[in-house]
Amino acid sequence: MEEQLKKSDTLNVVGELAAGIAHEIRNPMTALKGFIQLLEGSMKGEYDNYFQVITSELQRIETIITDFLILAKPQAVSYQIKQVNTVLSETLDLLSAQAAMLNIQFDIKYGELPLVHCEANQLKQVFINLIKNAIEAMPDGGIIEVSTELFFDNHILVSIQDHGIGIPKSVLKKLGEPFYTTKEKGTGLGLMVTYKIIEEHEGWIEVNSKEGEGTLFQLYLPIFHENA
Ligand code: ADP
Ligand code: MG
Repeated sequence: MEEQLKKSDTLNVVGELAAGIAHEIRNPMTALKGFIQLLEGSMKGEYDNYFQVITSELQRIETIITDFLILAKPQAVSYQIKQVNTVLSETLDLLSAQAAMLNIQFDIKYGELPLVHCEANQLKQVFINLIKNAIEAMPDGGIIEVSTELFFDNHILVSIQDHGIGIPKSVLKKLGEPFYTTKEKGTGLGLMVTYKIIEEHEGWIEVNSKEGEGTLFQLYLPIFHENA
C-alpha cells in the first residue's frame, strides 16, 4: 500500500484563513489562562477536577493554534544550507526523554549526507509530528527505527519506521486532510502541516503501512547544488 500525496490546493486556502484566526484567538486565550490560574489559587481543593479539565482543554486549543500558525507561513522563515542529520539528532534528543517514559527506544542510523537547503525549525516540526505519531501508534512501547541515506544522486531520504497499529487502506487516502484524525484527542493537523512543509522544500512523502504491523514514513528532500 503506497500513497504519494500532493494536497497543496486545500492547504493554501486553509493556511490564509488560519493565520488570521489563530492570531485573534491567542490574545483572549492568554487572558483566560491568567484568570483561571488566579481562580484556581483562591479555590484550592474543591474544584481540582474541573480545573484539570479546563487546563487540558486550553492546552488542546493551544496545540491546534500552534499547528495552524505553522500552516500560515511562519513569521521568520529562514532557509539555510544544513546537514539534515544534525537537525534530526537535535529533534530526537528533544523527544527521547518523553519516548523513554513510554517505553519507546529510537534505533538511529545516520547515513553520510550532502547538505540540504532547508528551514531547520520547520524540518524539526516535521520530524516531531511523524515521530509523535509513531509513538502514539505504539501504546505498548517498542522500537522506532529512524534512518537517513542518500537517494540516488539528488535526494536525501529520511525513514521513520514504527511497529505500531498500522493504518488501514481507507485511512491512508485521507492522511493530510485537515482535521482528519482517528484519535480521541487528536487534532488531525500534524500530517497536513508535515505535507505542506515538505512540499515547500520541493520534496515528497511516501507512506507504507500494514494494519497490525506498523508504518513507514519516508521523506525525500532535494540536495543542495551550488549553482542551482
Ligand atoms: P493526529 O495525530 O492529531 O490524529 P495527524 O495529522 O498527525 O493527526 O495524523 C492523522 C491520522 O493519521 C492519525 O489520527 C492516525 O489515524 C493516522 N496516522 C498517522 N501516523 C500514523 C502512524 N505512524 N501509525 C498509525 N496511524 C497513523
Ligand atoms: Mg499527529
